[in-house]
Amino acid sequence: TNMNNIRNFCIIAHVDHGKSTLADRLLEYTNTIDSRKMRQQFLDTMDIERERGITIKLVPVRMQYRANDGKEYILNLIDTPGHVDFSYEVSRSLAACEGALLVIDAAQGVEAQTLANAYLAVDQGLEIIPVINKIDLPGARPDEVLRQIEEVIGLDSSQAILVSAKEGIGIPEALEAIVKRVPPPTGNEDAKLQALIFDSIYDNYRGVISYVRVVNGCIKKGQSIFFMATRKEYEVEEVGFFTPFMSPAEELKAGEVGYVIANVKTIWEARVGDTITDANSPADKPLPGYKHIKPVVFCGLYPLDRDDFPRLREAIEKLQLNDSALAFEPETSEALGFGFRCGFLGLLHMDITIERLKREFEIDLVATAPTVAYEILLKDGEVIEARKPSDFPDPVKIEEIREPFIRLTIFLPSDYVGKAMKLCQDRHGEFVSLDYITPERVKLIYDLPLAEFIVDFHDRLKSLTRGYASIDYEQVGYRKSDLVKVDILIHGEPVDAFSFICHKDDAYKRALGVIKKLKELIPRQLFEVAIQASIGSRVIARENVKPLRKNVLAKCYGGDVTRKRKLLEKQKEGKEKMKMIGRVQIPQEAFLAFLQAN
Ligand code: GDP
Ligand code: MG
Repeated sequence: TNMNNIRNFCIIAHVDHGKSTLADRLLEYTNTIDSRKMRQQFLDTMDIERERGITIKLVPVRMQYRANDGKEYILNLIDTPGHVDFSYEVSRSLAACEGALLVIDAAQGVEAQTLANAYLAVDQGLEIIPVINKIDLPGARPDEVLRQIEEVIGLDSSQAILVSAKEGIGIPEALEAIVKRVPPPTGNEDAKLQALIFDSIYDNYRGVISYVRVVNGCIKKGQSIFFMATRKEYEVEEVGFFTPFMSPAEELKAGEVGYVIANVKTIWEARVGDTITDANSPADKPLPGYKHIKPVVFCGLYPLDRDDFPRLREAIEKLQLNDSALAFEPETSEALGFGFRCGFLGLLHMDITIERLKREFEIDLVATAPTVAYEILLKDGEVIEARKPSDFPDPVKIEEIREPFIRLTIFLPSDYVGKAMKLCQDRHGEFVSLDYITPERVKLIYDLPLAEFIVDFHDRLKSLTRGYASIDYEQVGYRKSDLVKVDILIHGEPVDAFSFICHKDDAYKRALGVIKKLKELIPRQLFEVAIQASIGSRVIARENVKPLRKNVLAKCYGGDVTRKRKLLEKQKEGKEKMKMIGRVQIPQEAFLAFLQAN
């Protein structure tokens, strides 16, 4: 193939606007997938993706298409996730492409992530083809959406394509637009090899499979290659294309997208964002990689069964290969034993990761409540990072505490603006702007502490707006906040696992909630037990557990039947673990119930 006959493009959109369905139609129309094998959202291969109906991983596919000009083209499509937590997947896909189909739901119009993804694509210099999808819907308003494309996004709407991915309308027009408007890749087949690793997966039999975009030169079986960041050398075992199944090929040339297998067994050696070059004739410098993504939400993950710790480590390491945004470090907790403090890009990312660990690796886990990382300026001028309450120093040493803020963009019907603003104010948000996109639709922007967002902000917003609000956010750095660390003392002993950070104004209310809950969970002892909440040495709330014995299990655990059964079995084995906090005996399970629910 000639580079002029290659088009690399991705599909970007707000969640549910129809990316995966459009990808299905393109695969069908180009006969890439046999119609007998076709199923809906074909590219969503993970179980979780299929169940939740969302795309998590980017997926590349190579299609062949004979265009109206009579020529045969290779179209490399990369389907991408739409949810804000996964936008790092989107930016990686974009770096492997020259063009993007920006899909917009004809009934919903421009939403928060339509805008965010469009900006990402513009930043990367991609040719953007607006696609108005779902024109079959009775509520479709293509004219209104065309206007929004011009006024809200700032793109020329005259080139937009009207499509129904569901009914298969406008598919040939979309393919022709890709061929005509997306530029062919630039690059030089005869130059030294430079291939960008834009994703990778770990296969138990074949080791690391790197997804690459070859920018210059070519890569073939038997070649000695060099990973420029990790400085490791390997011999290529196989290269090939995604059709969408992996199919081996002779070579991958400049402009092409495919995979490379080189018997790489340790996950650290072939990193996403690295450049592969020829070991015998290396390129001068690597391609620009990706900006390092910093996790913003943290939680502790502990195996329910302590013997599972090594398995948990292995599982997290493997997941990390497919998910370069996942961070982790070992952590010990007095209540939960050995585990990991993991970092995520957001709550959905955390949720999905935990579910994958449970499902794909069959490990029973305890996840502690999510937290953010704080920056603390000490009186002596030093700045430290605190990812959990126990990292906080003595309050007398603290000069100022800073917390991460996000700039939150909310698209919602104007009727709900008052409610949304109240919610943002209650969560210590700072108003930025309010714009009417149409008389009925509003773009509201607030700067909000991330910690307030991760509690349950999105759920609250959804219920206040009956699901009509869409959000996007970006990090806007650390700002000084009036925060305090609240310690919880049981019978005079501070218990690390229960302490928390919050805004000073909310401390009393939050503390009361926590100690009331602990009162429920802590079994009565032979003596009266005081549960206190304090800021530094000042007690702000107190509850007492009356002396008397009582069965704990009956009270503690709502919800999860399998966990309950598991606990009962463990107790039968005589394994029930009690923790001594000073003189007070607390069952391990009470800790679990508290830490998970909180
Ligand atoms: P994605 O999140 O952008 O990948 O969206 P999906 O492709 O998963 O589609 C979201 C939902 O919209 C699914 O229920 C699709 O069946 C539906 N959908 C997609 N395209 C169309 C369309 O052209 N018309 C109608 N009526 N529904 C569509
Ligand atoms: Mg999808």
